[in-house]
Amino acid sequence: MPISEVNKLSRLFQPTTGRIGPTKKTEISSKSSENLIKYGFIKQVNSGMYAFLPLGLRILNKLTKLVDNEMEKIGAQKLLLPALTAQHLWEKTKRYEDNAPELFKVRDRTNKQYILSPTHEETICTLVSTVGLLSSKVLPLKLYQISSKWRDEMKPKLGFLRSREFIMKDLYTFDIDINNAQETYASVCKAYDNIFKKIGITYTKAIGNPGSIGGTMSHEYHYPSDIGEDIICICSSCQYAINKAVCKESHCPECKNELHEKNSAEVGHTFLLDTKYTIPLNVVHRFNDKTVPLVMGCFGLGLSRIFAVMTESLSTKEELRWPKLFAPYSVCIIPPKAGSKESEGSQYVDGIIDTLNELNIDAILDDRTNLTIGNRFMHARITGFPYIIVIGRSIVHNVQLQYRPSLALVSSATKLAVCQVLP
Ligand SMILES: [Zn+2]
Repeated sequence: MPISEVNKLSRLFQPTTGRIGPTKKTEISSKSSENLIKYGFIKQVNSGMYAFLPLGLRILNKLTKLVDNEMEKIGAQKLLLPALTAQHLWEKTKRYEDNAPELFKVRDRTNKQYILSPTHEETICTLVSTVGLLSSKVLPLKLYQISSKWRDEMKPKLGFLRSREFIMKDLYTFDIDINNAQETYASVCKAYDNIFKKIGITYTKAIGNPGSIGGTMSHEYHYPSDIGEDIICICSSCQYAINKAVCKESHCPECKNELHEKNSAEVGHTFLLDTKYTIPLNVVHRFNDKTVPLVMGCFGLGLSRIFAVMTESLSTKEELRWPKLFAPYSVCIIPPKAGSKESEGSQYVDGIIDTLNELNIDAILDDRTNLTIGNRFMHARITGFPYIIVIGRSIVHNVQLQYRPSLALVSSATKLAVCQVLP
């Protein structure tokens, strides 16, 4: 790849800011949401509404790719639904009144009322019911999307942890009966386990609070976090966990040990809905000459919230860190300062870019050669690029001294240092 086509830091839209709005002393602050803004990954554009800037979006896209892969493995098909849902559908499923204060409402020119959807059970059911009777070959039907969702939070705070617009993966499944629906439910939970294992941050699966979505069974996926707003009760000796809102006991029903409360952030939620939506919205199947309602499940994954919480749990107070799989770029290349005595090292840049490209490793070149290597090295550390390639003889020596524990490779012969940045 010619050097002109590699991603260059000098051209990157990464509006950094030293000043972060004051946090009220009574509020819990989040180092991740502050640093994501400070180092140009996200930017607030309205109260509780954030733009993903190029570096932030690269992380979200990598997360999306992982989720798409796992959804594909269980035979889920991706589609994209409109953001607006006709309000009368929410009235039909009796959800409108209870949720009205948190819904964004929109009127069209004929005065027809819509809501900006926080979730799409009504839309997907209407879609499936109007395509005619489904062949049993397409069942279980698993349809999902990854899109923006809206909730008019009274007190938006902590970046994407409590935002009014967020990115969610929502999967809806339709089965012929409750037994099949339970099998489907278990297969999606397994896919969720795979996703969370690949992200690599400790998580807890807890018995869920079905809230306004309802259904006969639900589970929640939580990241333990001091800034999370949920409380889960966890058994001290087995895997049992339950949302405090639906917990009625002080001891674990599985092993009788004590339950402990822990602050956490909910990042995923699964529901076995049964026929709560398919009956009123007429999603049916022909079975033994009878028309029966399909049994439904719905499965949410808060991608923008996972992005926020994984940042919070891995980052230090000053520096952002990502799971390697999701770093905005895997490698940052730092060539020598222009006019310095190491500048002859610049001849290696092309070769390094070619090699990384052949290995399919995404890299960014910090071509701001008017800055010192040290200065750009700090920028790369703060931004959280997991590997930094520094070119220049004396820096090889310095890096070795300063960052010995996190050093992966130093080659004095080629005046090259490959550093692995660790927390
Ligand atoms: Zn237990």
